[in-house]
Amino acid sequence: MEVILLGTGGPRPDPRRMATTTLIRLGEENILIDAGRGVMVQLSKAGVPLGSINTVFLTHHHFDHIGDLYDVMLNSWLHGRRDDLRIYGPPDTERLVNTLVTQVYDKDIAWRDQGEPSFGGWKPVVATDIISGPVLDTGRWKISAELVSHGDGLDMSPAFLARWMCLGYRFEAEGKVIAISGDTVPCPGLERLAEGADLLVQCCFLATPEIDNEHLRRLATFTIACGDTVGKVAAKAGVKKLALTHHRPSHRRFHAECAACGRQAGLRRSSRARRGPHTDRGLRTRDARRPSGLRTIQPQPETTTAPLFRARCASGPACR
Ligand SMILES: [Zn+2]
Repeated sequence: MEVILLGTGGPRPDPRRMATTTLIRLGEENILIDAGRGVMVQLSKAGVPLGSINTVFLTHHHFDHIGDLYDVMLNSWLHGRRDDLRIYGPPDTERLVNTLVTQVYDKDIAWRDQGEPSFGGWKPVVATDIISGPVLDTGRWKISAELVSHGDGLDMSPAFLARWMCLGYRFEAEGKVIAISGDTVPCPGLERLAEGADLLVQCCFLATPEIDNEHLRRLATFTIACGDTVGKVAAKAGVKKLALTHHRPSHRRFHAECAACGRQAGLRRSSRARRGPHTDRGLRTRDARRPSGLRTIQPQPETTTAPLFRARCASGPACR
């Protein structure tokens, strides 16, 4: 069994990370959890055949988790998907998927289906709305969902909250347990998902020192877990391995990493770089103006091998 963190970022575009999406592989089965920005590109980088995606589980309907769902549906087909693509998610998933197929990409699908028959004709996408509880028991996989708390304490109308359901997932196969937190703060659902898991893939938006104003304290309390709580959740649940994902771009991190190689000045703001003492050194100025330039000073992708499964990052130099 293999777990690949295809993206570890959030809604803000981050040159170093794609949006949070995780892949679980077991034999011929490739299960995506969410379909955020860049998912198909990251699958390509990871060497996963794009037509081999069988199933997608959506945790919730924020755009950074479903933004590239269309790409999964269409490109898996164009790359030889043989069977229906099964998509599970909280209520409204079926409506969203059907809208994409019948109202957004209907002409594109018809064009390729009729005009390019070598693709073998459109392979349907089947969406299913689910709630907490057992989802699938295939004999090979046992998959269950739990409701988690992602903004439930914010000041939103009961009518909206009735439509806002966020899920985490627990996958059991080959005697191992993988828990996917989804976007959540600590809550009973997360505790149940994580209980005794071999691996918990846990959202962690901010490092603890970054929670330094009222807005961010509120965010860490009601919206998404941060560095002040994720370790406690994992320890309480007896999780054997904790993988953090869904990070906010951090300018402080850029600053610290640059400090490590002596390129500290001018990296926080491009204006400072242009005026600063190092503007005569082209690399520093380019780094500040174009975040992509920072790749030259990023660490290599993290690869860890666990005895139970491999957990590796496919986001390139961006992911660490
Ligand atoms: Zn979210």
